[in-house]
Amino acid sequence: MIVRRNAVELEKLRRSGLLVYQILEELKGMVAEGVTTQDLEMATAKMIADAGAKPAFKGYYSEAAGTKFPFALCASVNEEVVHGMPSAKRKLKAGDIISLDTGVQLEGYYGDSAVTVPVGEVNDSVKRLLKVTEESLELAIERARAGNRLFDICGTVEKYVTSNGFSIVREFVGHGIGTSLHEEPQIPNYVDRRGENPRLKPGMVLAIEPMVNAGKPETKVLSDKWTAVAKDGSYSAHFEHMVAITDNGPWVLSRP
Ligand code: MG
Ligand code: MG
Repeated sequence: MIVRRNAVELEKLRRSGLLVYQILEELKGMVAEGVTTQDLEMATAKMIADAGAKPAFKGYYSEAAGTKFPFALCASVNEEVVHGMPSAKRKLKAGDIISLDTGVQLEGYYGDSAVTVPVGEVNDSVKRLLKVTEESLELAIERARAGNRLFDICGTVEKYVTSNGFSIVREFVGHGIGTSLHEEPQIPNYVDRRGENPRLKPGMVLAIEPMVNAGKPETKVLSDKWTAVAKDGSYSAHFEHMVAITDNGPWVLSRP
């Protein structure tokens, strides 16, 4: 069942979304050559605590991993698609890209958003990967309207990304969000005809998150049980916003 949130609940999700936005803005400002992903983790954990919130990812149990995720931030560098583990040994270099993905729980309501940024100068093909992935999210958000169906969102991402020559990661998907981090529906970044195609209704809140590989779509999970990487080693980009369906169109909760 896809939960529909009332106005009071949407305001709470809005606060969680804006907190994640502020954290990601801070982190984007920190990203530079020589910074470690552990530095970014420590800043994230501090900002969440200072806001009186709880990290949504730290302690999150995954059946697939069989363990709890130990960090507040997923920091996924270059060929890492999602769920990269922060480390004091991972120093950013010019030409890298890093996906910053974090979540919070504030007064019982979750926020979740992600952005991928370059470290110093990156080449034109990498710039295009970031641009196309971000644009695919914006186009999908435009489709998050009452009366449309879930496949309108999924198909919009798929068409835009593949027509630009990049590939859609299939093993990881977006999700509903509310009083749990991951709620129904699952939101693949492609049309999955075996899946359900519910009509979108006011009050639904969707975390839409295209994950796009520059090369082939296949991923594998490293021996740390969490870090998903592009199998062919190509760069991978990831952007995410949480969007409420309203009578007045899409409301992006995770930006002002
Ligand atoms: Mg998410
Ligand atoms: Mg996320």
